[in-house]
Parts: sequence; C-alpha cells; structure tokens
Amino acid sequence: MVIDSVSSVIFPEVCYFCGAGNHVKGSVICPECRDSVRLVSQPFCNLCGLPLATFDDRSSLLCGRCLTNPPPFDKARYGVYYEQSVRTGVTRLKFHASLFNVRPISELLISAFYRHYSDDKFDAIIPVPVHRKRLVGRGFNQVITISKRLSRETGIVLDRTSLVKSRDTEPQVGLSRARRLVNLKNAFQVCRPARIANKRVLIVDDVSTTGATVSEAAKALRKAGAAYVAIMVLALRTRNQPALLDI
Ligand SMILES: [Zn+2]
Ligand SMILES: [Zn+2]
Repeated sequence: MVIDSVSSVIFPEVCYFCGAGNHVKGSVICPECRDSVRLVSQPFCNLCGLPLATFDDRSSLLCGRCLTNPPPFDKARYGVYYEQSVRTGVTRLKFHASLFNVRPISELLISAFYRHYSDDKFDAIIPVPVHRKRLVGRGFNQVITISKRLSRETGIVLDRTSLVKSRDTEPQVGLSRARRLVNLKNAFQVCRPARIANKRVLIVDDVSTTGATVSEAAKALRKAGAAYVAIMVLALRTRNQPALLDI
C-alpha cells in the first residue's frame, strides 16, 4: 500500500533504540528494548510518586517527606528510569526534534500516562516551560514536543502559554535538594490565571531527580487557583546517573 511504503521511508522498520529489525505495528521500539526499559513501579509514594525502599500494600502509603511536608501538588508519577536506551533517546530528542526522535519518547510518555492516570480527568496538559534564553541555539523545548503527542492521543488540551519560566536558573544536576529549591524559588509564573483557575491540570516534564522543578511549577499553578495539580515525569534520574548533557 502507498501509505505503508511512505511511512516505512519515514520510519524504517528497525528499532529506534537498538537498530534491529522491528515489525511491531504502531511501535518504533522492538519488544526486546521495550522489555529492557525499567518502569517505575510499586512500591512508590502515593503522593509524590518517588520509589520507596520498603513495600507495604496499604493504599495510603506515603513517603516520610510527604507525611511531614505535603508537596504543592495532588499527585505525581514517574514513567521509567532514566538509564540506557531511555537516556540516549531523551538526549537525542533534546537536540533534534525529528519525528524519528520524537516517536519513541512520546510512546513511553503516553503509556506511562495511561498506566498512572487512566482514571483521572484533566482540562489541560501543561509542559514545563524553559526560559527563553535556554532555547537559543535549539529553538524548541522537547517537553512541548512530547506533550503535543500526549495531547493528540488523549484529547486533553495542550496549554503551552499560561505557565512561563520567568527567571533563568542554573542547571539542577549536581545541586543538593536544598540548593535546588533555592535555585528555583519563584522561577515560574502563571501569566493568565483566569485560564487556570478551577481547572484540573497535568504538568509534564521529561526528566527529574527529586521533582523540585515540577513542584515549583505546581506551586505557581496552585497559586493561580488550579483545582487539581498532577505531574507526569517521563523519566526518573537516580542520583548516580548524571545527565549526558543537562539543559
Ligand atoms: Zn530494540
Ligand atoms: Zn512522597
């Protein structure tokens, strides 16, 4: 068929991650690579989504930090660990938003969304913005690129203008949690609070270590009157996994 041959030119039938033959319809990742991607699964904190060292099947399980100091959002979840092929894929996408780079990372984001948020209702998807200075030289924010795909897939409106990063900040990688929080203080602003008031919003980010950036974004949205603030981070970077290049 004509359509098949066109799409096989754009998406050759090889796995995006390993380059091996891949004949899985609708996926650019082969089954072996898909299996090698480590999901962030239970046990994790029911509120902030960060992994817990011990398992307890009580449904109200929270981590110590959330118990003593509730975060400024209603729910946060991480999709996969930032390692191996995921790390390579996310880094490639940062520098080149070709369809071939966008597809696999969007696929992972969409499946993470359905895994964690299939029962939640949202009015808007809000990609974490970057300061305009950071866009110089790249010209695009890869989080917007993958959020667009999630929006198209779920039918939830993409709002890329209400939340802005009003202050440039130094890269978070390598900073302690305390320094991260100071670094980000009041870095985000909602420029049209009327569009956010009483809305159920989902913040999307690509990679995070402690959730400090998304928490700060959540704080701004809450201040603007959002009724429900949830967070979906595609990949969780653990402390011993430095970024290939962090922006
Ligand atoms: Zn593969
Ligand atoms: Zn927690």
